[in-house]
Amino acid sequence: MPAFTNAMQQLDAAAQKLGLSEQEIEKLKKPNHVNEFEIPLEVSGEAKMLKGYRVQYNNARGPYKGGIRFHPQVDLDEVKALAFWMTIKTAVVDIPMGGGKGGVAVNPKELLPEDLENISRAWVSKMADYIGPQKDVPAPDVNTDSQIMDWMVDEYQKISGDSTGATFTGKSVENGGSEGRGIATAQGGFYVLQEVVRELNIRPEESSVIIQGYGNAGYNFALLAHQAGYKIVGVSDSKGAIYSADGLDPDTVMQVKQDKGSVTDYDGVEKLEGMEILEKDCTILVPAALENQITADNADKIKACVVLELANGPTTPEADEILWSKKTYVVPDVLSNAGGVTVSYFEWDQNLKNERWSEEEVLSKLEPIMKGAFAYIWSAHKEHNVDLRTSAFMLGVQRIVDAM
Ligand code: NAD
Repeated sequence: MPAFTNAMQQLDAAAQKLGLSEQEIEKLKKPNHVNEFEIPLEVSGEAKMLKGYRVQYNNARGPYKGGIRFHPQVDLDEVKALAFWMTIKTAVVDIPMGGGKGGVAVNPKELLPEDLENISRAWVSKMADYIGPQKDVPAPDVNTDSQIMDWMVDEYQKISGDSTGATFTGKSVENGGSEGRGIATAQGGFYVLQEVVRELNIRPEESSVIIQGYGNAGYNFALLAHQAGYKIVGVSDSKGAIYSADGLDPDTVMQVKQDKGSVTDYDGVEKLEGMEILEKDCTILVPAALENQITADNADKIKACVVLELANGPTTPEADEILWSKKTYVVPDVLSNAGGVTVSYFEWDQNLKNERWSEEEVLSKLEPIMKGAFAYIWSAHKEHNVDLRTSAFMLGVQRIVDAM
């Protein structure tokens, strides 16, 4: 099912529980602005046109906020879904921002650094009139990082003269980025996990964790979980998966990935196809890659007690239903991965106030936001007897409707 269709089904479930009017629901189903454009690129003497996007979904609660993804699968449907989820997410954690998302349909792994720089700068030149600290504040997402944000903010400064740096977050720390941004998504997810396991009486030292996707979100989460005594039994990346009932050391796995190209180059452990890892025995399953990974086809085979979504949109509505009927707790993306956007908001705030906060300060502000949102969502789930996604959407949607 297309991601935006899934997103609208999630909205419908929450809207029905909230008793919203048809008019309110229709407004929430339409993005404010859709920007589609072409980015020229020359690779090995051959001229190409790449599709670029920025969907500015809703700014009732503040400037549009959301990442830019470089991936061959990027299309308008995906960007719209991601922009909608950003709108819900910023409302769930109650930061004064709206939702947006951008992307370029390209495989960055086939490109040289100078091509990436050209694409990044071209994206900004196309969008410069529509972004800015009080309008729209992009950030990194899959395959985009602090280097790309540094190029983008530099290009924006050249075009607009804005020297606050506050138009892009996720910049390098030397260039106005926030301490703690690199680990924020994983750390925020980990704060939420601490609350879930407490509510469900799950003991970390008796729990195993499988993580799909070993990038910024997945790897940093593996480190935090490992440090807290959870056994990491499986991880995967785009090339496949590895499993070891005895447990894996996250740093050793990352070293192998960096040296040889993939987690699957790790010797002496069971190797699996990427999707198979989701069905292996574990207490906590952490999708940290892409959308539509847990579907009606495999939901019934998931053995985890908790699915903590660090990726955006990894579980389809059909899979949600199957998992909830088994009392598997899916902690939704709009809560579990909201640490990233929360610290992005801190970065924007620091840039505008010309301040610099330490990592300790950043995390001390992040923790109560994540745990507070969880408490609200957990109690609404009990009160209304709904899954955690529906209670999270109820919270986010109500806040957006109030602001609109
Ligand atoms: P990343 O580019 O750093 O890492 C992505 C990882 O997923 C890589 O290890 C890649 O090999 C792997 N991957 C790709 N396709 C896969 C597949 N089919 N099966 C298994 N692994 C696969 O990206 P990231 O920043 O870690 O983002 C991962 C997810 O988390 C995305 O859905 C993103 O939207 C979401 N997210 C990230 C942040 C953040 O701050 N980084 C914030 C919120 C949400």
